[in-house]
Amino acid sequence: MHADPTPVNLLGLAQPELEAFFAARGEAGFRARQLMKWVHHHGLADFQLMTDLSRNLRTSLAVDAEIRAPEVVLEQNSTDGTRKWLLRLDDGNCIETVFIPEDGRGTLCVSSQVGCALDCTFCSTARQGFNRNLTSAEIVGQLWIAKSRLQPEAGQSRAITNVVLMGMGEPLLNYDAVISAMSLMMDDLAYGLGKRRVTLSTSGVVPAMDRLKDTLDVSLAVSLHAPNNALRDQLVPLNKKYPIEPLLAACKRFVAGKARKQSVTFEYVMLKGVNDRLEHARELVRLLHDVPAKVNLIPFNPFPQTRYERSDPVTIERFRNVLIAGGLHTITRKTRGDDIDAACGQLAGKVEDRSRRALRFARLEEGLH
Ligand code: SAH
Repeated sequence: MHADPTPVNLLGLAQPELEAFFAARGEAGFRARQLMKWVHHHGLADFQLMTDLSRNLRTSLAVDAEIRAPEVVLEQNSTDGTRKWLLRLDDGNCIETVFIPEDGRGTLCVSSQVGCALDCTFCSTARQGFNRNLTSAEIVGQLWIAKSRLQPEAGQSRAITNVVLMGMGEPLLNYDAVISAMSLMMDDLAYGLGKRRVTLSTSGVVPAMDRLKDTLDVSLAVSLHAPNNALRDQLVPLNKKYPIEPLLAACKRFVAGKARKQSVTFEYVMLKGVNDRLEHARELVRLLHDVPAKVNLIPFNPFPQTRYERSDPVTIERFRNVLIAGGLHTITRKTRGDDIDAACGQLAGKVEDRSRRALRFARLEEGLH
């Protein structure tokens, strides 16, 4: 017998998986808990420093296991305190992760895929095309890296209080890895974030929303962006597969039966002259009247060669007032980090496209000249 040449990366293993890993080498289950604390609480990657593991175990782990996160190739700091990291993966692709500090909290926005297979017309990630799913280690690795690079501010016990899966990719199309990563985010032996502090955002993969509901108690955000199917078909092509009615039914199932009162956050990007008329707002009120909902209006963030423009502040304010008058809890999301292209929909990374979409856009643009 010879040793497996590729070391197992333990960074992304949730507790049961890590226990199975240790059981398979004849070690007790508590080894998993010891290792998790070293890795996730203390940020260690070197087994030799994990002093409560036996010397033999440390040595053998160094041979066939590793703790490996993506590599930081660029860190950018926005004038508003937002930070963005460009992370290189083993295969040369790059993804982006963003940290957004706010009063009393710090939110990390993590990516779930290299690029995105969906083709939302107003999103810059879509332009990159799609390469592959991230592994659980690559997802939780973004948190591992950010945590080690951020010092909590005075009076705060930790810098990262919330995680949102709102970076590159559609998390529910990378289900298993996302579940493992989110379990680690919520596990006290790792990052110990409460269920209201971990939010998964989806463009509406209905069957996976039902699976998620039965698997892990996290908060849900849904990228709605339009109050009717005709318009949503144009903005979020996935709507043709899972239209608004089944999507909202899945949202209701998601919150039904939860012990605590919970609502779904609906994201609505404000596109000038496209989905921002008062009639759209009224239609949205009618649509969401029986869904436990909060609405986040996101002023559109432009990127090169987009056909869209951001709605005027006054238009957004009026739109919001109609929703509020209609009984919908609504906030306008502050644009953060746009000077370093870190705002919603601006994450691009470096994606070796396998969907030929980037190529198609390049041809389209050539045709324009
Ligand atoms: N694929 C998932 C996760 C991405 S979340 C989803 O669609 O929910 C990123 C959020 O930013 C989504 O609500 C997305 O619709 C929004 N967004 C995308 N492009 C944007 C842009 N250019 N300006 C503002 N928001 C945008």
